[in-house]
Amino acid sequence: MTLPINDLKRHNAPLDAELRAAIGRVLERGYYVLGPENKAFEQEFAAYLGAPDAVGVGNGTDALELALRAAGAGPGREVITVANAGMYASTAIRAAGARPVYVDVQADSLLMDPSLLAAAITPTTAAIVVTHLYGRMADVEQIVPLAHQHGIPVIEDCAQAHGARRHGRAAGTWGDLAAFSFYPTKNLGALGDGGLVTGQDTERLARVRQLRQYGWAAQKYECREAGGRNSRLDEIQAAVLRVKLPHLDAWNQRRRDIVSRYREGLQDIGWQLPPAPAEDDVAHLCVVRPLQREMVRSVLQAHQIGSDVHYPIPDHLQPAYAGEARPALPVTEAAAREILSLPCFPEMSDDEVATVIQACRIAAQKESTT
Ligand SMILES: *Cc1c(COP(=O)(O)O)cnc(C)c1O
Repeated sequence: MTLPINDLKRHNAPLDAELRAAIGRVLERGYYVLGPENKAFEQEFAAYLGAPDAVGVGNGTDALELALRAAGAGPGREVITVANAGMYASTAIRAAGARPVYVDVQADSLLMDPSLLAAAITPTTAAIVVTHLYGRMADVEQIVPLAHQHGIPVIEDCAQAHGARRHGRAAGTWGDLAAFSFYPTKNLGALGDGGLVTGQDTERLARVRQLRQYGWAAQKYECREAGGRNSRLDEIQAAVLRVKLPHLDAWNQRRRDIVSRYREGLQDIGWQLPPAPAEDDVAHLCVVRPLQREMVRSVLQAHQIGSDVHYPIPDHLQPAYAGEARPALPVTEAAAREILSLPCFPEMSDDEVATVIQACRIAAQKESTT
């Protein structure tokens, strides 16, 4: 593939010397897990978001699971979320011992439909996981107050929304808790796995801090918090993330520019395009809806252009859980059949974006004749 959907080598190459220096610093210090780099990154990322505190953990799914445990999710409890976000929240909900309850998404944004939320709340609802999918913020202004009217905490899944803001307020600072992933392909990515929990609820964040390390309190070897695990951010990844964080806003701006170019170049071909990206959208993925997805994919492939589907199988239709009752989620199911992700990463040149647009236009031409 001449142009892949994402190119991490190109992304990290300009920072090569700085990254090597940061990794070297960790190697020399001789302190490799939960040390000064982790502490500094927690503080720097919390300050970047405008959050009161942050807790580095092993990955984004662990961040969700530990946040869920701190929110009281467990056996006999339900957690409301969406089914179009790649199984991450569902995996965490099940790992915490709770049961996922799905609501459908809005057809244009593919984000949680707030109008369906009230009907999904029951006396056993422990939490709501609201996913800011593709870099776009869900409607936290409706969802959070509604959840709080019922006394239910909201956990924001920010794994695709690092740096997204609404009215200047960052994704991850609207709900009670929030989970981030630093998987290498994310808008802020490590050179391996990494994750973080933040939020407004400092009491629950303190519980997450204990849960990430066996339930230990300040005193090690003393287990204060039941349900603890081992899920820590290592020093090398924290040092790498500290090098990359200062570039995040510029990368996000370039991603928005790329999506704007796609919108301009594809506006007249009859595909559903992503909304014009505003401040609340960090364009993690550029997801379009062609008329004949598989044909379009093969045209792109013939032009040496990568594409992908995020995500092809909704959570409630996953084969591993075929024995469970399946809710009807028509918008989610239709989207899964039609959506297509185009290459979108900050290092893409304008020429490369134009090449993808050209190939999409050729495919759309073919769509109209077959
Ligand atoms: C990547 C991702 C996660 C999980 O992060 P990992 O670090 O891979 O565990 C969770 N939620 C969403 C929406 C993601 O995209």
